[in-house]
Amino acid sequence: MNTFAEIGINKDILKGLSSLGFQEPTPVQAQVIPLMLERQVDLVSLAQTGTGKTAAFGLPLIQLTNAKNRQTQGLILCPTRELCVQVARDLEAYSRYVDSLRILAVYGGASIEPQINALRRGVQIIVATPGRLNDLIRRGKVDISGVRYAVFDEADEMLQMGFQDELNAILAQTPAEKNTLLFSATMSKEVAAIANKYMSDPVELTIGKRNAGAENVCHEYYMVHAKDRYLALKRIVDNCPNNYSIVFCRTRRETHEVANKLIQDGYNADALHGDLSQAQRDQVMNKFRGKNLQILVATDVAARGLDVNDLTHVINYNLPDDLASYTHRSGRTGRAGRTGTSVAIVHMKERFKIREIEKKINKKFKQCRIPSGVEICKKQLVSLIDVVTKVEVDQEQIDPLYAEIAEKLELLDREELIKRFVSLEFNRYLEYYKNAPDLNVSDGAKKQHGKRERQRGASLHNSNHKHKFTRFFLNAGRRQGIMPQGLIGKINDCGLGRVKVGKIEIKRNTAMLEADSRFTAQILDAFQHVKINGKTVSIEVVRGNHGTSRPKHGGIRHRKGCKFKAA
Ligand code: ADP
Ligand code: MG
Repeated sequence: MNTFAEIGINKDILKGLSSLGFQEPTPVQAQVIPLMLERQVDLVSLAQTGTGKTAAFGLPLIQLTNAKNRQTQGLILCPTRELCVQVARDLEAYSRYVDSLRILAVYGGASIEPQINALRRGVQIIVATPGRLNDLIRRGKVDISGVRYAVFDEADEMLQMGFQDELNAILAQTPAEKNTLLFSATMSKEVAAIANKYMSDPVELTIGKRNAGAENVCHEYYMVHAKDRYLALKRIVDNCPNNYSIVFCRTRRETHEVANKLIQDGYNADALHGDLSQAQRDQVMNKFRGKNLQILVATDVAARGLDVNDLTHVINYNLPDDLASYTHRSGRTGRAGRTGTSVAIVHMKERFKIREIEKKINKKFKQCRIPSGVEICKKQLVSLIDVVTKVEVDQEQIDPLYAEIAEKLELLDREELIKRFVSLEFNRYLEYYKNAPDLNVSDGAKKQHGKRERQRGASLHNSNHKHKFTRFFLNAGRRQGIMPQGLIGKINDCGLGRVKVGKIEIKRNTAMLEADSRFTAQILDAFQHVKINGKTVSIEVVRGNHGTSRPKHGGIRHRKGCKFKAA
């Protein structure tokens, strides 16, 4: 394998790459980079997700850009705002040691003024979503008449999203003699159409099999009754103590529902979909990237192309209608040589879909059993012990307190002490999974179903203590953008530690929330100055109506020593 230097990358960029830990080019980079550096070609490059396509076009683009000339020379078009930001961020990292190169992400859903100001100062490489770029073209705020390279990233997705007219309008503003480069994980008829329309005699590079799933992803499916889907999801997550995953849903609504249920059940989860504002989406993504969020529940479009490392699972809560999307979903894991697992939760009638996907990705799924309650408890216990054995003890801080601690624990012998400490963290699993039913469905055989577990619903992450709740009423609801995670977040922000939260009901224009009575004043205070769409939200206590539901931890499930921190 050649090094980046051997395939022609210059020393300023090499410096950036080595600080990123890129040692040698990936196969797609090894093919695309020398080709772009040596020849003026149009190119269609098909490579699996996670193979490093961004650097494959990004590095030569940076190197071929004249940083002394303020004119826009490179244009990268991406289907979504997130992808746009990510690609710009990646290119900035590669070019950290390249002098006076300006790269700018322009995308909708964010204020246009700062983008216009940045453009005025001169930007050599623009990474854009088609809609916003056209807006800027129409306002005469961007000049792409000197573009030498136009890149379509995730090209098929852009066309599927109906950006055809936008793309036509954009490309009409670029010079005919530019090079056009197209990158995609899959070859679809849309990709072929783009190649025919915008490219002259393109070189086609296919790295790996066409439409293949990422090499180091293993594919598993679980078969359950459709109604047990959510319980199955929880078991899959609980069975992996350090779970860090994306859960894919088919619709925004489903995304919303699953995320809300997980949050209410005390998981560290949030939703990513098109109904959120740009700021909300950024916030969710930052939390997820920083591993302050354990489970991201997303629609296909929102999570397309997202590059997050170290995911343990991609979970198909529902398989996508368009099976090509499966490749994109599973490609979110197993990135950059790491291994990952793509999981599908299916019911009997969906078995044929698994077979179809197998044909498409040319790989077999492994059918797995939904773990039993006992198995999950064992897994969690082992992980807890593991955390304890690895925790770092700060002797200096502990030593002065040790005598007092030892005195308090004097009466407990070692065995008793171990049992108690384990119970402290572990009772909730034992309680939740006590007599948990088998959720697996095998062909023909009818099994016990999860009714009882559903009835117990949210109790897993609840504590055992009963608390008095105060019921609060808010004059804003779903339409004003109120969401359970927002309410819990607000309470967490009060700095009161973990406040127990009970029922949350969000209606169209109102919301109801139960929380630990001892903090009534502080909660009222925290919501005093909240404004939504310029309007102050009012909050009041519902008198004579104390909540009765069992409490759960405010928001984030947080275990000491676990890598997921409370936000
Ligand atoms: P794709 O667009 O093909 O899905 P990305 O360009 O997003 O893939 O890259 C996937 C991951 O691999 C990113 O985290 C990226 O930083 C990493 N990566 C890319 N090229 C290399 C390399 N040569 N060495 C190490 N890591 C790399
Ligand atoms: Mg990509």
